[in-house]
Amino acid sequence: MKSIAIIGAGITGITTAYCLLKQGYQVTIFDKNRYPAMETSYANGGQLSASNAEVWNQASTILKGIRWLFNSQAPLLFNMKPSWHKLSWITEFISHIPHYEENTIQTVQLAIRARQSLIYWARIEQIDFDYRNQGILHIYRNATDFAHASRVTRLLARGGLIRQPVTAQDIRRIEPTLSGNFYGGFFTDSDSTGDIHKYTSGLAAACERLGATLIFNQQVQQLTCHPQQVTISSSDQYNAFEHHFDQLVICAGVASRHLAAQVGDRINIYPVKGYSITIPLLDTLSQSAAPSVSLLDDSAKIVTSRLGIDRLRVAGTAEFNGFNTDIRTDRVLPLIKWVEDLFPNVNTRQTIPWTGLRPMMPNMMPKVGHGHNPHIFYNTGHGHLGWTLAPATAEWITQIINTANQH
Ligand SMILES: Cc1cc2nc3c(=O)[nH]c(=O)nc-3n(C[C@H](O)[C@H](O)[C@H](O)COP(=O)(O)OP(=O)(O)OC[C@H]3O[C@@H](n4cnc5c(N)ncnc54)[C@H](O)[C@@H]3O)c2cc1C
Repeated sequence: MKSIAIIGAGITGITTAYCLLKQGYQVTIFDKNRYPAMETSYANGGQLSASNAEVWNQASTILKGIRWLFNSQAPLLFNMKPSWHKLSWITEFISHIPHYEENTIQTVQLAIRARQSLIYWARIEQIDFDYRNQGILHIYRNATDFAHASRVTRLLARGGLIRQPVTAQDIRRIEPTLSGNFYGGFFTDSDSTGDIHKYTSGLAAACERLGATLIFNQQVQQLTCHPQQVTISSSDQYNAFEHHFDQLVICAGVASRHLAAQVGDRINIYPVKGYSITIPLLDTLSQSAAPSVSLLDDSAKIVTSRLGIDRLRVAGTAEFNGFNTDIRTDRVLPLIKWVEDLFPNVNTRQTIPWTGLRPMMPNMMPKVGHGHNPHIFYNTGHGHLGWTLAPATAEWITQIINTANQH
């Protein structure tokens, strides 16, 4: 059987490895960190959200973005310093506005397909990842936002997803801990949540049991293609290494663009920074005052997931600021304030901030397929939905690799 290397032990790399191992391939996974899921797959919003499959390529997103430029509390922060990477990404983002409908429908179909495999793999590999199957509630504060969401609901229905419209009273019934006035919402009972880091770590252990070689603490420096092979040059703190494989899958998150360029491919992923806070729910009052249904507040662009009895994850914001991963207090405070406003009895004395870079393609669609070189494949660029989509794209790239190997 062919030997396949995978660069990246985040959710996309580990699910890809798992699918390839099940097909009998010899799999080696490389990651520069010491453990799996230490970058963007570490502390994300936790939502397995087909209901959030709408791509952002719309003229209204651009207009909203321009308005937000002048508001320091806005969910979007844009560093105005120009770079070719940023400019080319935005130009391509705009050029994909005509594909808004078809890309949203394709994304929701992928998200629905991913659900069954994610749960099945967790069951057979006995992965505890604080899975919660209580649905996702989208909440809106005014008629305009609700009307837009109604249009999105009709579009998602064309991809097979049912979001139920709910009134302000229904919102209180579905999530009684929520304070504040809302115009209405949409509830997707088929959506769920879970801890991406626990899941990816558990599946990585399963990959090892299935015979994968996991190489941590090694950064891939250079890729070289030969007629029948790919050479990976890597290094750790002390030594340089060379490894040879029949094929390679790049699942390197925001680093995929740089690696792709080495083998002649242009994968224009931009790192869209986001923040999360994890609130330990240490006392019984906080545990009963925190939401158990997952929420998406569309105007604030904030999502929540209840992870087990004693953790609340709250995530949001988008920053166009290059590869910067600094944790800025002024970006964390709005997340804490949001919790204090909507869940006043949750104790926020202790919050654990985190930041990650969403590997975002300009068309908001994951890049799944082969490169110019027949030995190189990609499963990357999942943007704001990597947790939701990864099982489906892992199965998809495995099919593509199987087909390539039959010829
Ligand atoms: C704030 C925030 C909230 C989010 N919320 C959600 C959500 O609720 N639902 C959802 O579906 N998605 C969400 N996402 C998106 C999701 O987390 C990402 O799409 C997903 O984690 C990306 O996974 P990945 O495997 O592509 O990248 P990563 O997890 O970053 O994995 C890439 C791996 O490649 C390794 N690597 C890179 N370069 C090299 C190299 N040269 N050599 C060796 N190793 C290398 C890295 O160390 C890393 O481990 C959120 C993201 C953020 C930032």
